[in-house]
Amino acid sequence: MAHVLDPLPYACDALEPVLDARTLEIHHDKHHAAYVANLNKALEAHPALAHLSLAELISDLSRVPEGIRATVRNNGGGHFAHNLYWRTMKKGGGGEPTGDLAKAIASAFGSFGDFKAKLTQAAVGQFGSGWAWLFLEDGQLRIAATPGHDCPEMNGGTSMLVVDVWEHAYYLKYQNRRADYVEAWWSLVDWGRVAEGYRTAAR
Ligand code: MN
Repeated sequence: MAHVLDPLPYACDALEPVLDARTLEIHHDKHHAAYVANLNKALEAHPALAHLSLAELISDLSRVPEGIRATVRNNGGGHFAHNLYWRTMKKGGGGEPTGDLAKAIASAFGSFGDFKAKLTQAAVGQFGSGWAWLFLEDGQLRIAATPGHDCPEMNGGTSMLVVDVWEHAYYLKYQNRRADYVEAWWSLVDWGRVAEGYRTAAR
């Protein structure tokens, strides 16, 4: 089964004015689509990997033949990270989490404000293209930035929130002002979805 590019879970202009429609359209229909196409192309000649889900594939890259490993890491990772990025934004998002996730964040990072500052710092401080994540690893909530399309899943983690800090995610509207984009991105976070991801990961 080939890997599939799901449609965006909202219209291209749904996240205006934080993320403009043109950026979302190019980001999803061109950039994300290309990662899926490249992933499928790399896997074409390797039917033994066809039964693996995307998460399974990127969680253990050692079973991917060396000749396509970097391609699968970059494009499979890109596919996985974008899926989470789209899924955890919504119009009218933002605010703060509630329930178990709120407690876990406060316990891991001190307070929601400390958590927000730390994830913002990871995102803004990532040198070059990459991502900043909230994920569970060894039973602990953690924050990390990764280069390229690397995902916590590649090191045994389970991610629940991510912000894309590739320039293609913000350049049309924010140009070089990544910090402004990240600050605005917080107003889109769908904490209900993030909490679902946390519950699944913590199980
Ligand atoms: Mn992207």
